[in-house]
Amino acid sequence: MSQLELHQFPCLSDNYGYLLHDPASEETACIDTPDAEAYLREAAQKGWQITQIWNTHWHPDHAGGNAEIKAATHCTVIAPQGDAEKIDEIDRTVTQGDRVSLGEWEAAVIDVGGHTMGHIAYHIPGAEMAFVGDSLFALGCGRMFEGTAPQFWKSLSRLKALPPETMLYCAHEYTAANARFALHADPDNASLQAYVADITRLRDQNRPTVPAKLGRELETNPFLRADDPVLQARWAERGGQIGDPVATFAALRSAKDDF
Ligand code: ZN
Ligand code: FE
Repeated sequence: MSQLELHQFPCLSDNYGYLLHDPASEETACIDTPDAEAYLREAAQKGWQITQIWNTHWHPDHAGGNAEIKAATHCTVIAPQGDAEKIDEIDRTVTQGDRVSLGEWEAAVIDVGGHTMGHIAYHIPGAEMAFVGDSLFALGCGRMFEGTAPQFWKSLSRLKALPPETMLYCAHEYTAANARFALHADPDNASLQAYVADITRLRDQNRPTVPAKLGRELETNPFLRADDPVLQARWAERGGQIGDPVATFAALRSAKDDF
């Protein structure tokens, strides 16, 4: 099996575009469609024919380019069942446990609802990659627009359980702002301090902080650490609760909304 190729490029104000290409089958998938024109242009520059779209959730900066890309390429659109009524041009809906493929490469669909009800992630175990949309960000997580704290925590727990080598391809470059909140939430975390120093250096050079390695996020991302007794104790007077990851997650999430 030949190597999967990933082309990552900035689009809109702070989204990342991803084109995933399998040279053996010559299939190419758009991971979300924030900007049809940018995707069509980048694919043409690579010499890749778009054959699929894999949507993570319904928001326009993730599915807004479906119709234009499908019209131009006749690709197959795969989208989350739970968000399906708000997404254009769907050919196949998928949910937790389903598999999608790009040539011989397989991705497992993971339910990561919370930011939207139907939000999904695509995990490709053979390539140690996960496309997580707006569910999880480097040092942060998506806003809880539609779901509940128990649901969102369960979603993050599914991502926590992936192999720690997994590279997380988040949909936005929000890391610098997330880092400021993470330091506020968990100020004594030495791994976090070291990570923030690396992030600051990358952003000063205008380089991406995405993808992020899950193993490092597990040690530093406060939203993944709502089950950590140290963080629970620190947040116990701000709505969190010792022994209760859901309450601690909810306290962190609402504090971040107003940070
Ligand atoms: Zn979103
Ligand atoms: Fe988004």
